[in-house]
Amino acid sequence: MCGIVGYIGNKKAEPILIEGLTKLEYRGYDSAGLTILEKENFKTIKNKGRVKQLSEITSQENLVGTIGIAHTRWATHGKPSSTNSHPHNDSSNTFSIVHNGIIENYQELRKFLGENGYQFLSETDTEVIPNLIHYYFSKENEHSENTFLKAVNIATKDLKGSFAIGVLCTHFPDIMIAVRKDSPLVIGKGDGENFISSDIPAYLSFTHQFYFLKDNEFAVISKDSIDFYDTQLTKINKEISQIDWDATSAEKNGYEDFMLKEIYEQPNSIRETIGNHLSLNTPCQFDELNFSKEFLSQIHKIYIVACGTAMYAGLTAKTMLENICEINTEVDVASEFRYRNPLINKNTLCIFITQSGETADTIAALKLAKSKGATTLAVSNVEGSSITREADFVTYTHAGPEIAVASTKAYTSQITLLGILVIYFAETLGKNTKILEDMKKSILELPAKTEQLLSDITEIKNFAHEVYQVKDVFFLGRGLDYNSSVEGSLKLKEISYIHSEAFYSGELKHGPIALIEKDTLVVSVLTVQDLMDKSISNIQEVITRGAKTLIITDKILENSNFTKIIKVPETNQFLTPILSIIPLQLFAYYISKEKGLDVDKPRNLAKSVTVE
Ligand code: GLU
Repeated sequence: MCGIVGYIGNKKAEPILIEGLTKLEYRGYDSAGLTILEKENFKTIKNKGRVKQLSEITSQENLVGTIGIAHTRWATHGKPSSTNSHPHNDSSNTFSIVHNGIIENYQELRKFLGENGYQFLSETDTEVIPNLIHYYFSKENEHSENTFLKAVNIATKDLKGSFAIGVLCTHFPDIMIAVRKDSPLVIGKGDGENFISSDIPAYLSFTHQFYFLKDNEFAVISKDSIDFYDTQLTKINKEISQIDWDATSAEKNGYEDFMLKEIYEQPNSIRETIGNHLSLNTPCQFDELNFSKEFLSQIHKIYIVACGTAMYAGLTAKTMLENICEINTEVDVASEFRYRNPLINKNTLCIFITQSGETADTIAALKLAKSKGATTLAVSNVEGSSITREADFVTYTHAGPEIAVASTKAYTSQITLLGILVIYFAETLGKNTKILEDMKKSILELPAKTEQLLSDITEIKNFAHEVYQVKDVFFLGRGLDYNSSVEGSLKLKEISYIHSEAFYSGELKHGPIALIEKDTLVVSVLTVQDLMDKSISNIQEVITRGAKTLIITDKILENSNFTKIIKVPETNQFLTPILSIIPLQLFAYYISKEKGLDVDKPRNLAKSVTVE
């Protein structure tokens, strides 16, 4: 959460910072600000509201400085306001910083600094950082670039919690310092100019070469150099990564919103994710894993750990792993798993799914599993992201950058990749099941079927128009259809703010049916053939009580009394969640549009949950 950027070079920093912030706005958008360092003075401008409003102010200011930092905020400590927004400067205006993360011991540090004459203007946890740096800096007799770095280094040792920070100092107008712990930060290398940012898309139009900082590594950045140091301030070498993402893939490309663009990108993101892992007549390939039969045979238990949408992708993987590989699998929410002392040993495989690779709870859960001796496998969409450096093994979805807060193409890519992974496990274990061939064929057909599904969306769009004023929506499903229901319900509540819940159809009579009244909207996913009759009976029970119904199905349902049926193409039963979710993504999208909401940046949410 929060997006931070920094620029140092020969060009005016202000427009470049604004451009970076605009690309990172999906990370936070309650307020924004920047500091430009000009003639050894800070020009710090902050504003409650979106980046666009900030840019209206900054563009009037004739800011000519060529070094600066900027921030788009998702408040954790202190309400969204101009004062609380970043950058925060120390009391003497010598240091200016942008911060992503939470300083857990900020009250203690505030008290200490207050006793030492420092004053605070904001309610944030962040404001202790520039003051602490100043406190240590002022203790040095001489001031050099080295003492600047030393002060940042000592100050960060006092911080408990998570941080990615960019720091400027008025005494050293030619350098910027960056450091991180448990919050993301990348450094982009240009020609005579360098960049920092929370995420790669911010500066893809300037460079494709990035360094990834590890926890507690420091970078001292000038326009022509980037030097790295460890906590002892010993210089270290780091490898640069070439990132092949296309800069325009992080743009809207003519679509009204990123979410719609990303929904339409699914045929391609699924195709890219399949990559060369899978072909019809040869076993699936995962060179990055290379698991042996011996290794997989001694795995007695798999945990799939994730948050939100990624966790729902995990539900489908569980069904596949248990049915196809016959390995006992549990799906857990990362924020629970990390604190519940799960039963793990060396025969446990823990799979962690996170689109960004920066989800704080998922990373902490992985560290716990590793410490207990499990083998850890991360499934992420972002190369070089934090989780990929922690896990024993990593495999990537290739969905491309996902900018809209509500996840769409990342989810379908995750299930696709997990499906191929399950086939790979089954083949390695020597499971000779006919279903593997059918699954392979079906996965290869998914891009075309997704395309077919997206070629005419009029029906779901019109239905959204009919019902967008509903107050409550309930989603029902059994088995794999339940997985699509929870994800569909999450999409709807995230971007339309309509109260929505998902239930197992069989649980209806154990409570939820009490909520059904005339015209309540009930959405049901009906694809699992064996459970079809039972699920239809449950839907009849809500119709009897006056509910309107939207059915997503791959079957031909004759003579039904459902309000609306949306037909999706048939596929192998384990893959149905990939196709069933698409009309539900569009349903949420069009309801949000009907209500005139900001689809890409829903209230209170941010992409990439890098705080607990
Ligand atoms: N804790 C800081 C604030 O509230 C940064 C929040 C974040 O990174 O999400 O301003």
